[in-house]
Amino acid sequence: MPLCRSCNGTYPREHFIHGNGPRTQICGRCGIEQGLISKDEAPLLFDDALVAARLSTVSRRWGPTITLLLGWSLWISVLSGVKPWGAYVLALLGLATLLLPAQLLFYRAKYAGDMARLTPAHDRPKGH
Ligand SMILES: [Zn+2]
Repeated sequence: MPLCRSCNGTYPREHFIHGNGPRTQICGRCGIEQGLISKDEAPLLFDDALVAARLSTVSRRWGPTITLLLGWSLWISVLSGVKPWGAYVLALLGLATLLLPAQLLFYRAKYAGDMARLTPAHDRPKGH
């Protein structure tokens, strides 16, 4: 992946602006900050609404996994010795651990579709 001359960030080729001279090897964000392009010319620089929608989609995808990991951490550190709640919570965590892979598998296509819908179309110019 190429390196931006201005911010030294490494991004996929689609995030770079096109042109020669001062526009060579400049990422979209630096191009806007330096006045080389307008916001409309950087399709992969997401606006705030799109960022929020993408973050929400990713959170919905990985939230249950993180919650389960936190639940196991809590059970191991605090609840494993508590009677009878330790056993109840262990049963719930075990059930959730069994159901989580199925949930991830069944909603994988929906997640991929949502992310594709929330990714702006980008035509890569010839030679890039
Ligand atoms: Zn940059």
